[in-house]
Amino acid sequence: MKNSYDLVVIGGGPGGYEAAIRAAQLGFSTACIEKRIHKGEPALGGTCLNVGCIPSKALLDSSHRYEATRHELAEHGISTGEVAIDVAKMLERKDSIVKGLTAGVAGLLKGNGVDWLQGWGTLLDGKGAEKQVKFTAHDGTETTITAKYVILAAGSVPINIPVAPIDDEYIVDSTGALEFKEAPKRLGVIGAGVIGLELGSVWRRLGSEVVVYEAMPEFLAAADKDIAKEAGKLLKKQGLDIRVDTKVTKAEVVNGEVVVTTDVKGETKVEVFDKLIVCVGRRAYSEKLLGENSGITLTERGLVEVDEQCKTNLDGVYAIGDLVRGPMLAHKAMEEGMMAVERIHGEKAQVNYDTIISVIYTHPEIAWVGLSEQQAKDKGYEVKTGSFSLSANGRALAQGEGQGLIKVVADAKTDRLLGLHMVGVGAGDIVHQGMIALEFVSSVEDLQLMTFAHPTVSEAVHEAALSADGRAIHAIQRKKR
Ligand SMILES: Cc1cc2nc3c(=O)[nH]c(=O)nc-3n(C[C@H](O)[C@H](O)[C@H](O)COP(=O)(O)OP(=O)(O)OC[C@H]3O[C@@H](n4cnc5c(N)ncnc54)[C@H](O)[C@@H]3O)c2cc1C
Repeated sequence: MKNSYDLVVIGGGPGGYEAAIRAAQLGFSTACIEKRIHKGEPALGGTCLNVGCIPSKALLDSSHRYEATRHELAEHGISTGEVAIDVAKMLERKDSIVKGLTAGVAGLLKGNGVDWLQGWGTLLDGKGAEKQVKFTAHDGTETTITAKYVILAAGSVPINIPVAPIDDEYIVDSTGALEFKEAPKRLGVIGAGVIGLELGSVWRRLGSEVVVYEAMPEFLAAADKDIAKEAGKLLKKQGLDIRVDTKVTKAEVVNGEVVVTTDVKGETKVEVFDKLIVCVGRRAYSEKLLGENSGITLTERGLVEVDEQCKTNLDGVYAIGDLVRGPMLAHKAMEEGMMAVERIHGEKAQVNYDTIISVIYTHPEIAWVGLSEQQAKDKGYEVKTGSFSLSANGRALAQGEGQGLIKVVADAKTDRLLGLHMVGVGAGDIVHQGMIALEFVSSVEDLQLMTFAHPTVSEAVHEAALSADGRAIHAIQRKKR
């Protein structure tokens, strides 16, 4: 380990490790400080690889296969014997995927010449030209390192709420919900956001009766209303009991059960569960990250204050990912990491915050990019929309996936595409077409004039664009053009 680097990254999550690799590619001598110990081993990859995106998707995939094998094969004429799930094996598979990926990141850092310093990083002083960073190894040894540039990438942790204290056995956060040894018979979930819906879906598919409590009056308020409505209908049909406008006021463990008290428009209700998952959001994590004289400004909400290019109030110090404003998403963190490094290198890199995609990996997936119809109206656009149901899409039907819809939102005056929204099979991938179209400032007509392969689910994007002008072919539209 050296005592001086060009660039030190604190945090080895997707934001931090990508920044470190990019910095090494650009010729900076680089260290990445990461303190995480996962299942007894030091681990890179942050929340995303260890307890977030990847393990949740591994469980979503296993549980989907289980459910599909039990309920969907018969109509294809495929019969199976009794189908069983071995939860221990499913968790083992998840763990091995995580291990492979985190080891891969360690290999990438090493291969690029980045020093991974295993322990805590604290920015002692970021004001001068030589920044001071304290590195505290896991054995407690402290070293002061100097760097010309520092990138803060310490990420986030789950928000705990006093009414439902986590005990890691009966009341758990998202990390605990990735480790249930068996599907709880009765499972409560606080929060119908992305994580609540994904983890609730995993355990429902494996046999849990799931109730999801949401304090907000609207389901998926962040999504376009039509998509949220359709998604809510589909998820409820699958058996997720989603209760909006329902505030959990108390959750306590009594004789090995979780007793949950809720307030529904002034009415008190009590329900009992075997496990309760609390996923009400995440907060930026800056514990031990900043020394008393770091000079860094935090916002009221405890985020590190940055400008559009992720520069903090101090020259040469950047902050990225979940630690700063904007959606808490791995791909946003990654892009910010690369932008910060390239800015330090003197380039004009930029993140387009208007085209950051949101995906909820339920089945079917829910995804969107750009403005919803309401957001577009609130911004003063005269809006036109077009939508197309997957129940009329040949490929979706052939796959047994004829549920959901695609919606385009556009500026009626200029025809410019403003947003693409979808609930349906493959939404998380298909929505990238919208992202590319938005980046290239496409019009709805552009989408109408392109030839989409048949039969594909993507054809529904074409039809939704045609429908914006009353021209969808596989739907009856009164307006003719
Ligand atoms: C269950 C779940 C599912 C998710 N699914 C998705 C998804 O599908 N798609 C998506 O885009 N996002 C998803 N997310 C969110 C995603 O994981 C985060 O947005 C992303 O990991 C943020 O990256 P980051 O680099 O900013 O921070 P993190 O990934 O949190 O990494 C920060 C790292 O910094 C380390 N650290 C903190 N302080 C210090 C310090 N002082 N010294 C040294 N190291 C430190 C931490 O140990 C941590 O490993 C999910 C999250 C959860 C919990």
